[in-house]
Amino acid sequence: MIQKFFLSIITTIFLTGFDARAAEPILVEAESFENHGGWKLDTQFIEIMGSPYLMAHGLGRPVADAATTITVPEAGEWKIWVRTKDWVAHWEAEPAPGRVEVIINGSPVETTFGTKGAEWHWQSGGKISLPAGKVELSLHDLTGFNGRCDAIYLTMGTEEPDNSSEILPAWRREALGIEVEPIEEKFDIAFIGGGYAGTCGAISAARMGLKTALIQNRDVLGGNGSSEVRVWAKGNTPGGLYPVGDIVQELSDQAKASPGTYEEYEDDKKLGIVRKEKNLSLFLGHHAFAVDTENNNIQSVSALETRTGKIRKFEATYYCDSTGHGYIGLKAGADTKMIEGGRMGMSNMWNWAETDEPVSFPETPWALKLDENGFPYPRKHHAEWFWESGYDKHPLNDLELIRDWNLRANFGAWNAIKNNGAYARSDESGNAHANATLTWMAYVGGTRETLQLLGDVVLTEEDILTKREFPDRCVLSTWSIDLHYPKEQYIGKYKDNPFISYAEHGRGVDRRVGYAVPYRCFYSRNIENLFMAGRNVSVTHKALGTVRVMKTGGMMGVVVGKAAAVAKQYDTTPRGVYEQYLPELIELLKIPGQKRRPDINSPFVIDPTIPKYEPSMSVSGVPLSKLDGMVVDDEKATMTGKWTRGGAGLKGFVNMGYSYTSDKEATASYDFTIPDDGTYDVRVSWQPHENRSANTTIQVNNNGDSIKESVVNQKEKPLMKYGFHSLGRIPFKKGDKASVVILGKGATGNVHADAVQLVKK
Ligand SMILES: Cc1cc2nc3c(=O)[nH]c(=O)nc-3n(C[C@H](O)[C@H](O)[C@H](O)COP(=O)(O)OP(=O)(O)OC[C@H]3O[C@@H](n4cnc5c(N)ncnc54)[C@H](O)[C@@H]3O)c2cc1C
Repeated sequence: MIQKFFLSIITTIFLTGFDARAAEPILVEAESFENHGGWKLDTQFIEIMGSPYLMAHGLGRPVADAATTITVPEAGEWKIWVRTKDWVAHWEAEPAPGRVEVIINGSPVETTFGTKGAEWHWQSGGKISLPAGKVELSLHDLTGFNGRCDAIYLTMGTEEPDNSSEILPAWRREALGIEVEPIEEKFDIAFIGGGYAGTCGAISAARMGLKTALIQNRDVLGGNGSSEVRVWAKGNTPGGLYPVGDIVQELSDQAKASPGTYEEYEDDKKLGIVRKEKNLSLFLGHHAFAVDTENNNIQSVSALETRTGKIRKFEATYYCDSTGHGYIGLKAGADTKMIEGGRMGMSNMWNWAETDEPVSFPETPWALKLDENGFPYPRKHHAEWFWESGYDKHPLNDLELIRDWNLRANFGAWNAIKNNGAYARSDESGNAHANATLTWMAYVGGTRETLQLLGDVVLTEEDILTKREFPDRCVLSTWSIDLHYPKEQYIGKYKDNPFISYAEHGRGVDRRVGYAVPYRCFYSRNIENLFMAGRNVSVTHKALGTVRVMKTGGMMGVVVGKAAAVAKQYDTTPRGVYEQYLPELIELLKIPGQKRRPDINSPFVIDPTIPKYEPSMSVSGVPLSKLDGMVVDDEKATMTGKWTRGGAGLKGFVNMGYSYTSDKEATASYDFTIPDDGTYDVRVSWQPHENRSANTTIQVNNNGDSIKESVVNQKEKPLMKYGFHSLGRIPFKKGDKASVVILGKGATGNVHADAVQLVKK
């Protein structure tokens, strides 16, 4: 039992000051607690501070205790140490927010932990008296504000435990009785990192007949596209080249907001698809931390099981770095490029809600001191992608500091909304947000840019703008060149790390057709058996602006799975596939995701349990550039309820498709900021069909007030060019916030939502 929970008695003398006559010390890793209670298992910073840890992320409400049982060999006086930190001390903020007690057999140790030191260290809790035998140990959170604990050390001696941030240093392994356990099976390919890129890649490789491992350090799949980070998967999976988008469509959730709800991100669906693959072994909760390389070939990758500390050694013919951070390439000695600064940053998005009851929120003096002018008010009850920081910080070494800075900004803003400033007073009856509550905040940071692993082609912005055609083109990137920069007013105030960004969308990519990225961006130029997929592929910073979105990354993974099958079949390297077997790769790229084979020598068969997918985007839509005035397409509308995306059925749509719903609660809101005083023709487009609603309600709002309501018949073809219908001419003033909202309510058929256009008259 004790061994199982990563707890053991140190059997050798390894530290100075150890008293040979006393009982041997006890090391308890927090992540190995039998019951984590409300504490979160944080694995993001293992590379920085050496271990997974538990964190009390309670949004200001203390979380339930984490608890375990230990066996104490000898009654008497023990010294207790807790490895922790005061997570705001780096900024000299006070008081320490993450205060934690250790409770032993029901009584708290006198010291409060998490109150000292900007760095991870062993905080002494002084001497305690322990009985021999079974002892209950709990971590008790006092604040709900991100207190943290890596491990607890109990000793009858006088020594302070070693504070090395090496990953599971020798003394800890010895203390915990952990050995390297090579997995007996050798894999054809191991994908490390289970975001969209790695997960789609592993499914693709498995369906190609390769013995595949997928190693993921979280307990869910999807990376930024999981319920832990809540970024909606964008980019399209168009036809026009190869059907490498179908596995991506199969895996994708249908999130309607980012961040949206937990359910929208469909973690279970993603897990279910992976678990069904016979050739695919999934290792959730495994952080790959060591790479053994010989003669530019990776021999093995070792991973730490994040709850038990067990180490597994994975051997494979090929490896794919889909960690986003490029960890595997870095450790293998791959050629890399990390730009000096000005990278795209990390976000910890959050949601809030109005409730029926007053909800209090504690003052947060240790957070950023913000008032109502200090941050963008989180409209629509969520703080979105532009809550972003870390541009000039080191994207690996400073990762925990960037995340913690984001938490300070988020809590500072929420404190302003709840406790001070105009938001808190903006109602005659008192606090207008008295009933508002935080419902979710990501403690797992969403990262966008770390470093690039260099391949035989390093894709540039110029390649994209000049539409350079590579013979090995294979993945259509449909996102614009979207680069993020810190917002001016925040640079002024927070020079060290502004926390709000803006995006600049370049026009280089034709989003309907896409730009075809070559295969040579997906393998390392100097590590012979290393592929890569996702945001760490071989592109420049600017080219990353388009290829980084998740559906595009997923398609890269699918290509890697197929290229690995060619490499295996012909016993060659990823480069050898390009140089000698490109026609064979192209043949596999044509195989749809519905087909599979049990091994690389068997024929492909269609698996009828896998749904058939159509390409998500047609090239026959009306380009936005042809339309006058201001246009918001349905892809940019804010949708609530259940909408389905269409594009293959009804032609004549604007841009890349349309949306439709039979959900009576559904809404699609198209938002505009009016640029000039004047009268505007407000137009809505749809494609008629007999199953569409004859009485769709459309509201026009201005500055929150409803100013017009129309009912339209969507069975009938709109009369204006490009399928638009005019709702009438409406006067607006410069700066007005107008919205056109299409409602599912009361409709007698499917409600159709395509584009909305405002043309000044
Ligand atoms: C706030 C925000 C908004 C964004 N907006 C959009 C958007 O609207 N649409 C869109 O498509 N994209 C968007 N992006 C970009 C997109 O999310 C990323 O570029 C994308 O997630 C990259 O996918 P990936 O599979 O390469 O990596 P990730 O999604 O980062 O997944 C990598 C996974 O590998 C795991 N991992 C890392 N190291 C190890 C290791 N050593 N061992 C085992 N596992 C490991 C990580 O925990 C993670 O789960 C946004 C990003 C952010 C942060």
